[in-house]
Amino acid sequence: MINVDNLVFDYMTKRALKGVTFKIDKGSIVALIGPNGAGKTTLMRCMAGLVKPFSGEIFINDINVPEDSRRAHKHISYLSDVFGLYDNLTARQCLKYAALAFDIDCDKIDVAISDTAEKLNLTEYLDEYAGNLSRGIRQRLAIGLGIIHKPDFIILDEPASGLDPEAREDLSKLFIKLKKEGHTLLISSNILAELEDYA
Ligand code: ATP
Repeated sequence: MINVDNLVFDYMTKRALKGVTFKIDKGSIVALIGPNGAGKTTLMRCMAGLVKPFSGEIFINDINVPEDSRRAHKHISYLSDVFGLYDNLTARQCLKYAALAFDIDCDKIDVAISDTAEKLNLTEYLDEYAGNLSRGIRQRLAIGLGIIHKPDFIILDEPASGLDPEAREDLSKLFIKLKKEGHTLLISSNILAELEDYA
């Protein structure tokens, strides 16, 4: 389902990816591990269609990501290791904004918001301001913003970093739930012990 072939990515002064090749089966959770600077973020940003590789191919659902990144975005969710939320919007308003950005029909937005909130156990926080939420809940809301359009492929860059053990456990359970619902996940992490729970 996801095919990366001989990927090469260059920054101005550095080759960050040197011939990366792998496949990911649909409906699986794959962990991406490696020391700081190994190239995990660069690889994920290439796969999310945010930057173009120097050479090599990335196919997701038979879409050539570097060539047709706009179309690929409809099938992909990407959560950066550092993300921002609109703190002055409620969680519901944040989700509505994401739904509009992903072109969800206006008459389907309310259902998309409630489905996403239920999936991420966010229902009770929907009318709270994003700026008032705890870090673990903010992380779940950020994931929700990326999956409201039901993408097949979810890319998460170090999603557990900075979370307490309970929030990390909740997140592991969420990954397994998303996999059971048919999503394919690529997750980078440095917390090796916890990867066994889901990848
Ligand atoms: P970390 O675990 O620290 O997030 P990473 O595995 O995600 O690291 P990348 O951030 O992809 O690694 O970086 C890969 C290499 O490319 C590193 O050597 C980094 O210094 C370099 N690099 C990243 N961004 C740039 C940039 N904008 N310009 C030049 N070099 C960069």
